[in-house]
Amino acid sequence: MKRPQNAFEIFKLLDKSNCGNCGEKTCLAFAGAVFRGMRRLEECPRLNPQVIREYSGGADPDKIPEAEGTAHFAKLRAELAALDFEAAGRRIGAEVVDGRIALRVLGKEFAVDPRGNFHTDIHVNPWVAIPFLTYVLYGEGRMPSGRWVSFRELKGGRERYALFQKRCEEALRRVADTYTALFDDMVHLFGGREVAPQFASDISVVLDPLPRVPFMICYWRPAEGMASGLHVFFDETADRNLDIGACFALGVGLAQMFTRLSQRHGGAAAALPPATAQ
Ligand code: SF4
Repeated sequence: MKRPQNAFEIFKLLDKSNCGNCGEKTCLAFAGAVFRGMRRLEECPRLNPQVIREYSGGADPDKIPEAEGTAHFAKLRAELAALDFEAAGRRIGAEVVDGRIALRVLGKEFAVDPRGNFHTDIHVNPWVAIPFLTYVLYGEGRMPSGRWVSFRELKGGRERYALFQKRCEEALRRVADTYTALFDDMVHLFGGREVAPQFASDISVVLDPLPRVPFMICYWRPAEGMASGLHVFFDETADRNLDIGACFALGVGLAQMFTRLSQRHGGAAAALPPATAQ
């Protein structure tokens, strides 16, 4: 893995078109932000994937949360051993099949056994595994009320909102701006449901990363001198069915998955694989 020593080294990797698709005004501004750890190289949609692979792991603010996530993940897995699966299943409205708690994650089957082994067709990332375990261990199993709130309004959300906005809402907005048709296809590919008429926007959808923790994503295209906008809303019960850290992980994880898929399939919706969490 190569580590850039300064922002100019990063700048030299970019195509220097100043196209603005990354959300920065210039490639140099983007390079500076990457070097300071505020942005990730893969957020430049014009960068060669090979270069991203060679440099991934450089100045990357995601490394700290991921490392913390790994220890937290191990702790949650260990707690499963003492969990009454039948009672937990009743609490969160999940089936217990062959001694495993089974739920649908973005429309796909996902199950865990008392030893913390996952059984699923989709790739198990920390961003989905930690919220899943938090939901199983501590979720109150509240049914969504249908009242949508921003991340900031959830318990503990105010302090983390700036980071959530940057890493979830802004990241999703960049994908939607750059690959609008693909973004539309992706949200529907992952089982997106129609929103109530009062929330309709250019692209608006309700996703179910966990059965009782729906997200609503509303995207507005740029128009008449107005910048585009994208907001993610949670049901007001989300902080009772998860904690704020798990809500954060779900939102940011979803944004990372959409970013990777869009970079890989760049506008060729027909080439998308069947729905899998990446
Ligand atoms: S998206 Fe890439 S090429 Fe375009 S301005 Fe940003 S860094 Fe430069």
